[in-house]
Amino acid sequence: MKSEAKTVIIGGGIIGLSIAYNLAKLGAEDVVVLEKSYLGNGSTFRCGTGIRQQFGDEANIRMMKRSVELWKGMKEELGYDVEFKQSGYLFLLYDEEELESFKANVRLQNRFGIPSRIISPDEAKMIVPPLNTEGVIAAAWNHTDGKANPFRAVFAYANAAKKLGVEIYEYTEARDIKVEDGKIRAVLTNRGEIKTGRVINAANAWAPLINKMAGIPVEIPIHPYKHQGIKTEPIKPGQIEPMVISFKHGGVYLTQEANQGGVIGGYELKYGPTYDITPTYEFLRGVSYRFTQLIPALKYVNVIRIWGGFYAETPDHNAAIGRINEVDEFYIAAGFSGHGFMLAPAVGEAVAELIMDGKTDKPLDFYDPYRFERGELRQQAIQMG
Ligand SMILES: Cc1cc2nc3c(=O)[nH]c(=O)nc-3n(C[C@H](O)[C@H](O)[C@H](O)COP(=O)(O)OP(=O)(O)OC[C@H]3O[C@@H](n4cnc5c(N)ncnc54)[C@H](O)[C@@H]3O)c2cc1C
Repeated sequence: MKSEAKTVIIGGGIIGLSIAYNLAKLGAEDVVVLEKSYLGNGSTFRCGTGIRQQFGDEANIRMMKRSVELWKGMKEELGYDVEFKQSGYLFLLYDEEELESFKANVRLQNRFGIPSRIISPDEAKMIVPPLNTEGVIAAAWNHTDGKANPFRAVFAYANAAKKLGVEIYEYTEARDIKVEDGKIRAVLTNRGEIKTGRVINAANAWAPLINKMAGIPVEIPIHPYKHQGIKTEPIKPGQIEPMVISFKHGGVYLTQEANQGGVIGGYELKYGPTYDITPTYEFLRGVSYRFTQLIPALKYVNVIRIWGGFYAETPDHNAAIGRINEVDEFYIAAGFSGHGFMLAPAVGEAVAELIMDGKTDKPLDFYDPYRFERGELRQQAIQMG
């Protein structure tokens, strides 16, 4: 392991790796990623694979529009197929109030060039043939949303970053950060010390612990909540192509994996704050019930796996991204709740631009880490699960 590096990124999830890759792409030398376990083991390998631009605020729509452009070109850019598929997102709407709020979202999305629209229950059933449309009055549909394989995406970013000179150390835990006179001097790990002048906190659910190590005085409320996922045995491909969501059924979301055919998803049940991610029977029962309400035929399909993972939640469900003023060259990109996988390409690009160019055209102000302390919460991000 190196004993000195210009930049140390703490966290080997999709966010830390995307930042590492983008920094190296912009010419940063001497970048190191520390991961306390194996790459992806935090939230990233436990996610629901969904990628959408259907948000209800300008910043997330713009970030996701850029992310989708990057997801689209990722196979060519990173040289590895991440199984990105634009199979759409379908929000089922059951009453006028829901419909009105989704109409407003669609108008905003259309202003930024996202081709979302409100469709009829019959059209929804054409898109998802086994869908139960009882009670559905309309749906919000965007065919350019989609999904990708988190396992492949992690390895794509890691390998591309390594090719550009980034060093990635797995099973290497940051245990302390030496700061003197407001300047970072070193990161102490279980494998020794790395002298450095710059740290990027990409530890998501563990981000508050990293802030504490560096003595960051600003309060950035990120709390780990256990959310769970489920996967069924494969069914005939093409049955449930888009991500299908119903807030009226406890925030249930489900989709068929792009290449393997299993149905994956979850719902709003959460526990915490906690660092325990043991799966629960309550989830298995609750998610199975909701899946079969939306797609009745799923009652004949076997579940093969359930798992737990973290939503690293902030009070407005938007991440904290930016520079910390009190400690020179300390940055944070953490607290991504249920949408960090999809945002990773644009976040990596934005943070790298901020560091290398001192500015970015992406709306990072929205994710200002100081907004909590100022009591300026953003509009709640639309969140699945
Ligand atoms: C059930 C579920 C479904 C989800 N579905 C979706 C979805 O459909 N779409 C979507 O976009 N998002 C989804 N998410 C959210 C998504 O998984 C996260 O937002 C995203 O993975 C965050 O990436 P990250 O790199 O910030 O965090 P992580 O992947 O958690 O990476 C942080 C890493 O930091 C490491 N670390 C922590 N402390 C230290 C230390 N001291 N030293 C070294 N390393 C350290 C951890 O081990 C971890 O690997 C879902 C999450 C869950 C749990």
